[in-house]
Amino acid sequence: MHEITQPNTSESLKSKLERLTDVDVSTCYQCGKCTAGCPLNEEMDIKPNQILRMLQLEYPGYEDKILSSLTIWLCLACEQCYSRCPQEVKLPKVMDFLRQESLRLHKVNPKAKDILAFHESFLDEVNRNGKMNEVGLTIEYKLRTLNLMQDVENAPSMLMKGKLGIIPHKVQHPAEIKRLFNKIKGKGGQQ
Ligand code: SF4
Ligand code: SF4
Repeated sequence: MHEITQPNTSESLKSKLERLTDVDVSTCYQCGKCTAGCPLNEEMDIKPNQILRMLQLEYPGYEDKILSSLTIWLCLACEQCYSRCPQEVKLPKVMDFLRQESLRLHKVNPKAKDILAFHESFLDEVNRNGKMNEVGLTIEYKLRTLNLMQDVENAPSMLMKGKLGIIPHKVQHPAEIKRLFNKIKGKGGQQ
């Protein structure tokens, strides 16, 4: 586990990533197995192995390209890449870090607007109840995106099958979850 030290404003993206996660970007030797197995690879503007190569090279302008890419928001954290990687590079963790940096530096790709709305609605829901509630998440997502009628025809059958929990269930100690969220916010992370 890397120790969190005082942030250095001139620190490179790669260096910060390696300091705050346990990922060593330099171990990637570009075999491409991660990208070949990624279910979203066709939709991504920068392929997962290319993200790692750009981090390794640290050319001027690459950090902006990475942080404003659609790729980091399309990543599902499914871990297919990690399971295939001969070097055990934790790409999902890299993507997670890059999303947080992208948010912090206001570099989110405009095409990721709805994905970001979902991401924030999900975290708000967990912050409120300590766990996810489908109805709360759906309402918040729709209010954020104004996609009010999207998939609305599926609601009755989902309700009938008990797939939508109307009354949110809380975890036993929701205050503990709030404390975690506040701690992360205090360290400059997004909610
Ligand atoms: S599978 Fe691993 S070593 Fe190969 S390109 Fe992807 S991250 Fe790099
Ligand atoms: S974790 Fe992300 S990058 Fe890796 S295979 Fe899944 S979607 Fe692709």
